[in-house]
Amino acid sequence: AHLDRIAAVDGDLNAFLHVNAAVSLEAAKASDARRAAGAPLSPLDGVPIAIKDVLVTTDMPSTSGSKILEGWMSPYDATVVTKVREAGLVPLGKTNMDEFAMGSSTEHSAYGPTRNPWDLDRIPGGSGGGSAAAVAAFEAPLALGSDTGGSIRQPAHITGTVGVKPTYGGVSRYGAIALASSFDQIGPVTRTVLDSALLHDVIKGHDVHDSTSLKDEWPSFADAVKNADVKGLKIGVIEQLDDEGFQPGVLARFHESLELLKANGAEIVNVSLPSLAHAVAAYYLILPAEASSNLAKFDSVRFGLRVQPEGGGTVEQVMSATREAGFGAEVKRRIILGTYALSAGYYDAYYGSAQKVRTLVQRDFADAFSKVDVLASPTAPTTAWKLGEQLDDPVAMWRGDIATIPANMAGIPGISVPAGLADEDGLPVGIQFLAPAREDARLYNVGGALE
Ligand code: GLN
Repeated sequence: AHLDRIAAVDGDLNAFLHVNAAVSLEAAKASDARRAAGAPLSPLDGVPIAIKDVLVTTDMPSTSGSKILEGWMSPYDATVVTKVREAGLVPLGKTNMDEFAMGSSTEHSAYGPTRNPWDLDRIPGGSGGGSAAAVAAFEAPLALGSDTGGSIRQPAHITGTVGVKPTYGGVSRYGAIALASSFDQIGPVTRTVLDSALLHDVIKGHDVHDSTSLKDEWPSFADAVKNADVKGLKIGVIEQLDDEGFQPGVLARFHESLELLKANGAEIVNVSLPSLAHAVAAYYLILPAEASSNLAKFDSVRFGLRVQPEGGGTVEQVMSATREAGFGAEVKRRIILGTYALSAGYYDAYYGSAQKVRTLVQRDFADAFSKVDVLASPTAPTTAWKLGEQLDDPVAMWRGDIATIPANMAGIPGISVPAGLADEDGLPVGIQFLAPAREDARLYNVGGALE
């Protein structure tokens, strides 16, 4: 049924870069047999799943939305992909994304933009617009995404779906093509909070292949949703993310959701995180710095594309011609920014200062969580904008990440839950909750209470 749905609507949406029909049907049949024998591998055995193209897979191409990886096949599966296969889930295909997960609209994909199922003239959010659109349009019940500065949560907000960024280290990054390694985290995109919890329960846990992977024993997130109860829960509203820079309809749905939680016994207080004023600026120095280093491996020798300049060329000329042809404008912009910020003479002024801001953000969160159990904010300042509308103003698009970036800077978990539709445009709005590191279960408790 999902393959039929993809065939019917993906021509319009472009949520998928690759659909693996034959392999998924085979996996589905194997699952049917297990169920018939009364031996499913997990509660999600047989459930189809879409996989963001940032995750490497052996039976499907992995491009990370870039021309530089066109045609490349991974010799191994990302750990999260292995885990979903071992739980019996059925990978349908790979979803579209901004090139190397840089962007908030999926317009920076080298394979054309994904369109928002709510309005085909609008963006689906990004960088994981493909995963979110696929779930919103019922092409897939579940999807995997990656969140470096909001790429799971913001598309969820934009498409009326649920998106979770786990605690840094809570889910393996092995086989996730790295953007900024100290921010990246893999997580679920689904239509309900319970679905996210069930998928998170499958992908969580220690991995020897990821040195930043936590050894924690995690509680059942599905149980946290099923037993959701916010009585006595202290929720802090982040003052800096509750101001007139945000669209009125976004703020209205945000406050309505808070009222609902209050009616169910939660206590709502205001909390100030002053360092957020500098979070976007610091993120857009640290991220390009790490990205420029991570993307150095695309050197025309080890992976994917190789462009030979006419008449031969030195190793350096081949490398340069390949990167010129293989990377898009946003990727080049960030590589230049990152290498500049890291260069001798500028390191302290830019990269060093940005890392100090990062410490301040972490301290602000620690301070806030000494007073409240979870924090709340709108997930993003606006609803879905029109395709092309923000393309020639990259800094404007970066500024829109203000509400999601801080969680990645501090390594803490976050969830975006649908909060209704904005009055002015009828488009989806999400509410975001943040919890202290390792307390992902709190997000499922409060998100579950809204469901
Ligand atoms: N929009 C942010 C960026 O462009 C987030 C990206 C992400 O989470 N992968 O960096």
